[in-house]
Amino acid sequence: MKEFKTEAITENLHSVLEFIDGQLELIGCPMKPQMQIDISVEEIFVNIARYLCPERSNAFVVAMLWYAMLTGSDIRFEAPVSKQLYDGLTGTLIPALAKGGFRAIRLEGEVTSERVETQGGVVSGLSCGADSFYTLHCYGGEDAPVGKKLTHLSYYMADYLFPFVKPPYDVDVLIDEQEKLYNEHVLEYAGMIAEHHKLPFLVVRTNLDRDYYRGGLIFTGMYRFLACTLALEHLFSLYLISSSGNADNVGEPSISSPTQSYEDLICSCCGTESLNYQLSDHVSRVKKLEAIADDPDVRQYLSVCYNSAAGGVNCGKCFGCWKTLIPLDFLGKLDGFSRVFNLKSYYGNRRHVFEQLVHYSFRPEAAAARDINRQLLSLAETVTSDSAKEFIEVYTELQNRNTV
Ligand SMILES: [Zn+2]
Repeated sequence: MKEFKTEAITENLHSVLEFIDGQLELIGCPMKPQMQIDISVEEIFVNIARYLCPERSNAFVVAMLWYAMLTGSDIRFEAPVSKQLYDGLTGTLIPALAKGGFRAIRLEGEVTSERVETQGGVVSGLSCGADSFYTLHCYGGEDAPVGKKLTHLSYYMADYLFPFVKPPYDVDVLIDEQEKLYNEHVLEYAGMIAEHHKLPFLVVRTNLDRDYYRGGLIFTGMYRFLACTLALEHLFSLYLISSSGNADNVGEPSISSPTQSYEDLICSCCGTESLNYQLSDHVSRVKKLEAIADDPDVRQYLSVCYNSAAGGVNCGKCFGCWKTLIPLDFLGKLDGFSRVFNLKSYYGNRRHVFEQLVHYSFRPEAAAARDINRQLLSLAETVTSDSAKEFIEVYTELQNRNTV
């Protein structure tokens, strides 16, 4: 394999294209594909040169923080760290993590309050889940709040690809499987939806998992996500985070808790003078689904499943599916979702689905399921459908049996 190394600045685009064209000519590549390749190379190289932020260590410090605090290693950096980030880490996050069982560490190097140049992008990730569709619904159109209209959509092959796996596992196999799965479905769908909204779509890949963390997936999710965002500080000034809005996102960090359970804290500590995050408004799942249920893209591409969604069809058997199917059913909107759910199977087993959700909510760790039950019960009181009545019956019966 031939290699060509050069500094990632736009002035070097010409030499990059010269190298690529030389290689393509050597293998007799026809002119038309060569021109298409040149266009792609230009886009990728110029994006990297313009948007990656090498003059700050922000992304790298955040990427390494979890690992450093687990092992008690101080972090020394050569390029400066933004003061706001440094203060957030040293003043709040590191002490909170240390209280939660991690080792306290020091960050050593130059700190600056100088802003980096930014294109002022407003971005949000599009995973095709209900939360990300809701963000797109609120911030993608002309009626978005002033200064917060989305300018880009993104997809990180980096953050919550593996939220529910339990060790032992082979990281390389997992990453391969997940990338294949997401490449086949979600990534393709997200790209199409971005096109419908005429928004540029950024796909970010990272070697953080393969080469650094090698596991600990649910414990590193937010660090991976924030590191990727900080690496693009020349492009973004506001990242709208589509979280589930569950009450369990606001916990105290501990060595055994997933980053999702303290995501409000971690995000509030990782802003800089140029880049801020906005966490989701704490809107309930039911309200979100109500807002997005008539959107044709949502009906076509909604992806909420924790299992492999073969052919883009959600399994109907996991919590991600239950908390979507049941509210849509109560709202009378479910029939519009026949492409992404097997509705025949759901309608045929509805009582059993309700029982499974209620049983699942009895587990001590299933606070999110108890929250969904509360939402469903209060929705069931306002609608007249048979399914809502049946849910109240099932819930009351199982709850009584559980407390006896
Ligand atoms: Zn599922």
